[in-house]
Parts: sequence; C-alpha cells; structure tokens
Amino acid sequence: MEREQLEFDVLFVGAGPANLAGAIHLKQLARQQGREVEVCIIEKAAAVGGHSLSGAVLDPRALGELMPDFRETGCPIEESDLRDGVFYLTPTGQIRLPYTPPYLHNEGCFVISLSKFCAWLGAAAEELGVNLFPGFAGVEALTDEAGRVIGVRTGDKGVNRDGKPKSNAEPGVDLLAKVTVFGEGPKGSLLRELGRTLGIFEGRQPQVFETAIKEVIEIPAGSPFASSPYTVLHTFGYPLGLDTKGGGFLYRMRDNRVSLGLVVGLDYEDPMLEPYQTFLQFKKHPLIADVIRGGKVLQQGAKTLAAGGYYTMPRLAVDGAVFVGDSASMLNVQRLKGIHTAMKSGMLAAETALAALAAGDASARLLQSYADRVDASWIKTELHPARNFGQALSRKGISKFILIGAQMVSGGRGLVDPMPTVDDATTLKPGRFEEAPPVQALDGQLYLDKLTGVYLSGTAHEEDQPCHLLIPDRELCVTRCWDTLRSPCTRFCPGQVYEMEPVDGGRPRLKLNPSNCLHCKTCEIKDPFHNILWTCPEGGGGPNYTVV
Ligand code: SF4
Repeated sequence: MEREQLEFDVLFVGAGPANLAGAIHLKQLARQQGREVEVCIIEKAAAVGGHSLSGAVLDPRALGELMPDFRETGCPIEESDLRDGVFYLTPTGQIRLPYTPPYLHNEGCFVISLSKFCAWLGAAAEELGVNLFPGFAGVEALTDEAGRVIGVRTGDKGVNRDGKPKSNAEPGVDLLAKVTVFGEGPKGSLLRELGRTLGIFEGRQPQVFETAIKEVIEIPAGSPFASSPYTVLHTFGYPLGLDTKGGGFLYRMRDNRVSLGLVVGLDYEDPMLEPYQTFLQFKKHPLIADVIRGGKVLQQGAKTLAAGGYYTMPRLAVDGAVFVGDSASMLNVQRLKGIHTAMKSGMLAAETALAALAAGDASARLLQSYADRVDASWIKTELHPARNFGQALSRKGISKFILIGAQMVSGGRGLVDPMPTVDDATTLKPGRFEEAPPVQALDGQLYLDKLTGVYLSGTAHEEDQPCHLLIPDRELCVTRCWDTLRSPCTRFCPGQVYEMEPVDGGRPRLKLNPSNCLHCKTCEIKDPFHNILWTCPEGGGGPNYTVV
C-alpha cells in the first residue's frame, strides 16, 4: 500500500497524562522562547480520555507546575475534601488502622476521573496548537538503517478478518519526527518491540503488574457515606488475604457518585483466582456494601498498572526516542499514584526534546539528559525511597509488614536492596484447580456479570478485522495449559474474551471474543506460556471511558 508521510518535530505516542502534559509543556516553552515547534499526539482511542482509567487520586504537584491556574481554567475535580481511612478487612468486618502511613495521606490531593481529566488536558493541548489525532493506533516503531527511531507507523484501517482490504480501506500513515516520545501506558506493544530490538529492558529487574477493576457507582442521596468521617477508603486483607498482593479503594466523587475498585497483583499463584469474582466479593463486604446499597453502576473498566517501580525502569532514552509515564515505570506504588509522576516525566521529556531540536541532535547521548533530568527531579525523590516497596508487598503473610517497617526506617533500603521482582507469567502453581472458586450472585444493577461490565465500558470494535490477539500455539491451550492450569486466561481476563467450549468426547476448544477486549493487557502479562501477544486493533476501537 502507498503510505502518506507526515513530518513533525516531536511525536507523542499515546494521549495519557504523561504525553498530554509533555505536549502542553513543549508548546509553552517554545512560545516563551519565540520558537515554532510542530507537535503531534496520536491516540488509539476514538476520543482523548477514552482509554484512560485510574483510581484516581491526583497529587497536583506536576499539574500546578504545568498550569498554575488549573482551578480557574476548569480542571474537572470531583472531590477536594480528602480524608483517608485505612481498613483491614476480615470476611465479615473491618479494623480501622489507628495510624495512616504518611505515604497514604491525601490531604491536598483531588479525586478526579482520569478520562475527563485527559479530555480536558487534550483540549488545552489543542488550544496551544498541538495536532491531536485520536483514533490512530501506532503499530510499528520506524527506524532508519542505523537503528535510530524516526517515528511511528499507524495501523491500516478497513482490513477484513482475512487481512484483505475492504472497500473503505485506508493505509496507515508514517509519522516521522526528530524526537518520538512513547507514552503508551503499561505493557505497550511498541515498547515490547523496542525492548526486543534495542534492549531497553536489559539489566533491569522484570517489570511487574497489577490489574485494577473499577466502577463508578451512583449511590442514593441518603447513603451513610455522605456523613462518613472518611472520603477516601483504602482496604487490604479480605477478599485477597495476606498472601496475594492487592487491595481495594473507594473514593467519594461529586453528584452522589463513588469510585470503587480492586487491585490484584499479577504475581498471584492460584490459577483458579478470578480477579473479577474477587472484585464482586469485595463489593459485598459490609464496609463497601453499606455505602453502595441501592446504587447503580454507571461505568466499569479494567486496566493494568506497571507496579515494579524504580528498579524496573527501562533505559529512558535511545537514538531518536524517550519513554515516559507507565511505559517507563514511573508509578509510585507506595502512594498508589502515578498520574503526577507520569505528567512530570512528560514535562521533562518535553524540555529534553526542545534542547535536542535546538542542538539539531536527537542522539541517545543528548537524549540521555532526560534520564539525568528525571534523576535530578522530585520523581527520583519520590520513587527511590519506594524502590523495594512493591517487592515487600509480594511477600506472603505478615513478613511483608516486617520488610516494609525496615524500609520505613532505612529510607527504603530495608533488609535487602535491591529486592528482586519476579516475572508475573511464572508464578502460577499447577495442580490447584480442583478448588472451585465461589461464584458471586448477580442482580443486574449493582452486581454485574463481565459482559454487562464490558457493555458499561462502552467497548466497541470493528467486527470484521484481523484478530488482535495473537496465539501462536493453539494446541498448547487445550493440552498443557488446560491440563496443568485449567486455562487461567478464562479467569484473569476481565472482558470474557477467552472461553473454553466443551466438545463432546474430547478436549475443550478455545473460543475468542476479541470484540470484548478492554485493552488491559492482563492476558499478555499473566499468560504462563507467553503464548498470547496483544497487538493494537484498528484505531478507534476499545473502551470509551467518560467518567471512570
Ligand atoms: Fe484484557 Fe487481554 Fe482480556 Fe483484552 S483480552 S480484556 S487485554 S485480558
């Protein structure tokens, strides 16, 4: 196919908070210096914010640096009166911790909807002259003969399930740039390829992830939560227990709404664990059920978090490109926050890109100053003391609290530094599949099945397109994986994309429903045989988050 080429000074791949802040900052700096800089952002969602999902409590530190007047200019804040309560849950009750650790204090922060927030940042970027292209998925990082990154190819549109062009076929475009900033979010598919070709993960600890399932629920006006001393609840313990990393959250939003979610560490061992069922169990715990009783789910979604922290950061710069936000492991898992660090990383990438344009040099040597900027910024001041925190949380039982206590009194060093991370795909233990997990009762209003959740995420894809989930060895799915682990993909996927259909007198058959895909990437991360490869479906497909 003949492909159009478009040239820019700086190309941002992905319209999450890191890249939106980066593009805005770049335009602001260029304006201050009286320079013209052509900036482009591509986003695979149909609209900016459509694939953005987070808890989300925003620390406004980076936002205040970027847009000091953010309150006056309409930043969509849901709640600014944040009072934290931390609860240990038992199956039927809860114990409130008398002491809230400093890193869980949220005074001065805001509850936001990340999808609304990104849409707002997107509008601000456009006002500054950024070329914003939603509905375009980056499917290939373009490199020159010397291996330098020179841009990104967007996906072809109008290709049928057999790979043949349809009547409305449109070839993807080659977007060329002097500097490309990758902010694809966790487990980016372009980053995976760059990891393979440019070795950006070599010498780093394996990245580890958590899957979050989240809802926004409208609660009755008279809910007891209105008079609760807490507007932000953090929970641990039930239903995951102390051997599986993760916990729950519930935040108050405006208009009688709450943001409710459960995060499950993907280093869990039990192949029968189903994060979605665990989420339903969490919602039925009395502490949560009392708040949401009589309510209605408005939107549901799922995504993964890159939770490995400082020691899992990839190399941050290569010839022609830098990596920001979750793609670069900027999340502070100790504070359960990553929007502010993602935004700051995008802003530092913008400063670096502008310096590279001025010098006419986008080599790795010059772009390495982005890593130096990160090291000299408050990103490092935050992430370095938390460098072993996630690893300690992965320990079973109460040993994690001993390790965390040791880290707290030693500036994050703890008893072992660095503590190793373990690839999430390697942790499932075979042979535990006879223990059937409890299946939660549903009511179609507050307790929903997965397919209703997919519907409420607004997920839609063009049906007649090549399957974006590549499974090189389908035989393995119905033999080794079924025999030893009972096909955990059917449980860890929150979108019911994977099903094993019974076959008379034979082994079950794998059925895929790629149109349900929430783009969370859990399957590629957790698949124990590395037999699932997530690729970008046609641009514009996927969830359409507007309030989560
Ligand atoms: Fe998430 Fe994979 Fe399921 Fe899509 S198919 S919803 S990426 S687990």
